[in-house]
Amino acid sequence: MTRSGQAVLSYNVASLLRAAPGTERRYEIEIEGLPIALGDVRLAAPIAGEVRLSRTGRSILARVELTTAIDGSCSRCLGDVVAPIDVSLEEVALPTIDIDSGLPLDPADEPDALRLDEHHELDLDQPIRDAIVLAEPIALLCRPDCRGLCAVCGADLNSDPQHGHPEDDVDPRLAALASWREHSEPN
Ligand SMILES: [Zn+2]
Ligand SMILES: [Zn+2]
Repeated sequence: MTRSGQAVLSYNVASLLRAAPGTERRYEIEIEGLPIALGDVRLAAPIAGEVRLSRTGRSILARVELTTAIDGSCSRCLGDVVAPIDVSLEEVALPTIDIDSGLPLDPADEPDALRLDEHHELDLDQPIRDAIVLAEPIALLCRPDCRGLCAVCGADLNSDPQHGHPEDDVDPRLAALASWREHSEPN
């Protein structure tokens, strides 16, 4: 399905624009990682899903459902986490050229809609990238009950559940102060 020299997530909708309103086309997505980096987000699994394109009046409605996974780190213990994510997005795309007359259409109309290019090509690459970045969970956990790191020494409490610091195990300077107080206490 991928044609060389063209963006992976790009679809030509010229024939769909000529089809009856309500006509739908489905395309499978199977990508082993996007060719361009997603900022700080690293994909840990291929992107798999489906794009549904339908003609609604003079525009194209694109609905995308996909799953992938991202590499992250646990917000408590900083360990590596692979987080599966589901992404769904819906975009409206308008032609820049009238499919019948070949005349340019006014782009000031509906500024929020995507634009098809002059060959009626719909490029979903950027919207899909943005949706994946937005789907990144805010606070990843390696497991729901991750015990995190020791606040005193930074030890990983998952690998050492008994870890603790006895109450008298304090800064030596404070220990000296405590013993001085003990001795100076009036009986
Ligand atoms: Zn963790
Ligand atoms: Zn500790």
